[in-house]
Order: sequence, then structure tokens, then C-alpha cells
Amino acid sequence: MVAVNPQCTSQKCNVCGHSAKENRKTQAEFQCVSCGHMDHADSNATKNIRDLALAL
Ligand SMILES: [Zn+2]
Repeated sequence: MVAVNPQCTSQKCNVCGHSAKENRKTQAEFQCVSCGHMDHADSNATKNIRDLALAL
């Protein structure tokens, strides 16, 4: 079990790595203001958490 901060991962783009609260259009939707990547917010956060866990 790896502990990561879900607060950051929910605002970070899984494609380009840009992190901003503006990336969260709604609670459910993610759209990166930098590269335009769109995903379900939970799906994008899950990918970020997976990448963080793999990097450790
Ligand atoms: Zn992006």
C-alpha cells in the first residue's frame, strides 16, 4: 500500500503533467487548461495515483 496525496492528483493532468485547480471543470469532469486533455476526473486521478505508485 502506497500513500499518495489525492488532493494533488485530482488537479494534475495525466497527459502533460500540468497541475491547476482550473483543470477541474466540475467535480466529475477534468479538462486540462494547458493541453486540452479531457477525462473523467476520477479516471484521470486514478492514472496519476498509479503513475506515482509505479515511480516509487
Ligand atoms: Zn494536460
